[in-house]
Amino acid sequence: MQKLNLQEEIKRVKRPFLVSGPCSAESEEQVFTTVQQLAENTSVNLLRFGIWKPRTRPNSFEGLGDIALPWAVEAGKKVKLPISVEVANKQHVESALKAGVDVLWIGARTTVNPFAIQEIADTLKGVNIPVMIKNPINPDLELWIGAFERLENAGITDLTAIHRGFSYYKHTKYRNLPNWEIPIHLKERLPKIPIICDPSHITGKSELLLEVAQKAMDLNFDGLMIEAHCNPSQAWSDARQQVTPFQLAELLAELNTRNSTINADFEGKFIEMREKISVLDDRLFDILATRMRLSDEIGDFKREHSITILQQEHWNKIIDRRLAQTDEYQLTPKFIRRFMDEIHQESIRHQLKVMNPKIDTEFSNED
Ligand code: PEP
Ligand code: MN
Repeated sequence: MQKLNLQEEIKRVKRPFLVSGPCSAESEEQVFTTVQQLAENTSVNLLRFGIWKPRTRPNSFEGLGDIALPWAVEAGKKVKLPISVEVANKQHVESALKAGVDVLWIGARTTVNPFAIQEIADTLKGVNIPVMIKNPINPDLELWIGAFERLENAGITDLTAIHRGFSYYKHTKYRNLPNWEIPIHLKERLPKIPIICDPSHITGKSELLLEVAQKAMDLNFDGLMIEAHCNPSQAWSDARQQVTPFQLAELLAELNTRNSTINADFEGKFIEMREKISVLDDRLFDILATRMRLSDEIGDFKREHSITILQQEHWNKIIDRRLAQTDEYQLTPKFIRRFMDEIHQESIRHQLKVMNPKIDTEFSNED
């Protein structure tokens, strides 16, 4: 097979570019049956197989290792589809390259570790192979970008991102929190890198895959990675989140992929609506600037009369009043709370500056 250029392939196919296959390769039969069913029933573009599995606790199934590689390679050849496997160290990379794997991916537990990423990058020097990089398990955009930089520095340029959600201490609806703003920021920072969403590892539950896959499509993600298994309930890893290739086909049929650009016939109306929004945003910013000038005046007044900036009772009243208006304004309490908190903090920053012109008054630890 000719060397695959993954970035170009993702651009060429109709959204979503689909990566699918079992969480883990478990037996020759499981690999072949799953792949055959995927190829016959879905629009899969790239197959995936877990050969070495990073498991949270010891004594779970940690993948079959090298003996499973030829099954994956042969299954891919049989249905004429490229294959991808997860690599976490030098030995994995060497085995995968030797076996003839088309695409490598780096898992979330590896992206967190710059030593491991550097080891993979060093092993790949001089090799022409596409690599997909999952986000690190912790919500750290810089660490994710760092992994791209390490591979780029090693000469690997055909890179793709996979968003698989972020670990969280408490039990939530999803296995991992999507934190959608992080992949959106990644797109801002690395606009040329295609981005694929992995609803399987975000949700951890097969019945929630569709809602996350739909959100990814609405946010214009380029593709999806969804785990599929010929017999999910018997899977040796991630049984709760895997679907059969037939269920995957149903999910894809329900998915509204939408277009990333607008049809020229409707463009005029679209621009008009965007302009109206822009005018409103201008007004919002004018109002915010006027409000902050008043904060400066109040800061002056408080300094002259030597009173504290924070007047808790007054602030509680303001917040309560706004929270009571959720229905009237059709705004969620969460948004009102956040919006008012941001305004309040900016106002405090203004007042701190007016009251203490000589000292650094930054108080938020988010900046
Ligand atoms: C996987 O894709 O099976 C996997 C281990 O994923 P992650 O690295 O996202 O946990
Ligand atoms: Mn998995």
